[in-house]
Amino acid sequence: MADFPQTTMSDNSVRIDFANTYARLPERFFARLDPTPVSFPQLIKLNNGLVENLGIHPNHLRTVEGVQILSGNQVPEGAEPLSMAYAGHQFGNWVPQLGDGRAILLGEVIGRDGIRRDLQLKGAGRTPFSRMGDGRSVLGPVLREYVVSEAMHSLGVPTTRALGAISTGDKVKRERLFPGAILARVARSHVRVGTFQFFAARQDKDALRLLADYVIARHFPEECPQSRPYHGLLKAVVKRQAKLLARWQLVGFIHGVMNTDNTSVSGETIDYGPCAFMDSYHPETVYSSIDETGRYAYRNQPGIAYWNLGCFAQTLIPLFGEDVDVAISQAEEILGNYPALFEKVYLSGLRSKIGLLKERGGDRELVQDLLDRMAKNAADYTLTFRRLSDLTGPRSGSDEPVRSLFKNPSDFDNWVSRWRHRLAMENINDVQRQAAMKLVNPAYIPRNHLVEEAINAATIGEDFSYFDKLLTVLSSPYQELPGSEKFAAPPRPDEVVLATYCGT
Ligand code: AMP
Ligand code: MG
Repeated sequence: MADFPQTTMSDNSVRIDFANTYARLPERFFARLDPTPVSFPQLIKLNNGLVENLGIHPNHLRTVEGVQILSGNQVPEGAEPLSMAYAGHQFGNWVPQLGDGRAILLGEVIGRDGIRRDLQLKGAGRTPFSRMGDGRSVLGPVLREYVVSEAMHSLGVPTTRALGAISTGDKVKRERLFPGAILARVARSHVRVGTFQFFAARQDKDALRLLADYVIARHFPEECPQSRPYHGLLKAVVKRQAKLLARWQLVGFIHGVMNTDNTSVSGETIDYGPCAFMDSYHPETVYSSIDETGRYAYRNQPGIAYWNLGCFAQTLIPLFGEDVDVAISQAEEILGNYPALFEKVYLSGLRSKIGLLKERGGDRELVQDLLDRMAKNAADYTLTFRRLSDLTGPRSGSDEPVRSLFKNPSDFDNWVSRWRHRLAMENINDVQRQAAMKLVNPAYIPRNHLVEEAINAATIGEDFSYFDKLLTVLSSPYQELPGSEKFAAPPRPDEVVLATYCGT
């Protein structure tokens, strides 16, 4: 454990060094309120490393007082609880008022790494933004967000993180009654594209400028020159989203609800609802039960992020200058960089996934050909690339482990000889290449059927051991753990999960 100041038995009260800034913004940015108490809070899981990074002693959060705080039953000293106002496009439809309907921001904490993070309780009760909702969260989706967001972090994808999960002891009504839970999560901030839209729609230019200045100071101080700070802001957000989307595509992650209110301007993955990782590769894959038209299908994600960025750019037009036509053309120019920025990161990632270090003409076609063959043959996305790493190693045996993932293995054979020909043009030995490939091609992802199994064991049997084991395996996704083969394997046909449900 990290070094903490010596504590005595009597000195185990929870101290969180809040350093709040959002609460200093004008009152129309949020609603101040305390979380609504729950009946019988119990700690399910605490993310020790993250807790330590926030300068909090994990043992203190495990005490009765700690659990009271994580459940919202007690507001810790220094917290200034509030729910943030925002708007957004949901599945393309404009909703002028959303806001945190069940999340309460306790405040901000500057970590030992110097990074300021929001500490938020999701499922903490009704707020003025709850509309028809009950302000609560259900255990299953809380565990899903916990597992998937932590897996994303370990995979190296920018994301909000899970600090802890609490069961509330209360039942939550959905199609039927479910056990209630709260997720304590941290984020670089919870400002969304929808936060900007909220003020833009109200033509509240003062608020827009304050929000933009706030985001610049908090996230992009070095990328926003004083002469044109808001152009810099748009550029920075476009760049972050391009990178984020490339990373999602490379690991096979499908967010499921890419609404503008679920798009963080800091470039983190946020608001895990009916999200899932692809098993067998197909670009049209959709899991979300609410995404009936496939708007947020895997292949559409980069384009949807572009669309969301268009919404963001629009909100900044009033800040770009007096001449609206000039402002629009400037915004369009910055926005127009997105496809190339995305493609650059995506292609370079794909190249690494198949073990290519040098850039050569034809690489895009080579990797696209593999993806097309994978789609045609329902090959497992993660395993194809992971096992491809094994084929390049010094002691690689037959191609069978990869070709057997293809319904028609000869489709792989046709590709692999061209790949080997291309590998021969690289100046790297097999050992180095294999090691490099294994660092970008995970062995473990939070596969749907594993997440479901963990949720079912916890919800039905109150058994959290499977959830714990899954978290452990996923914390080192690039490293095979002996005895954990089950966690690397694709689902059997009877285990395949076809639909994931929204995180309500
Ligand atoms: P989401 O797409 O899940 O991020 O949520 C969309 C909006 O619905 C946000 O404003 C949420 O705060 C709100 N919301 C979702 N579930 C609930 C709930 N159970 N009670 C109140 N508001 C909710
Ligand atoms: Mg949301």
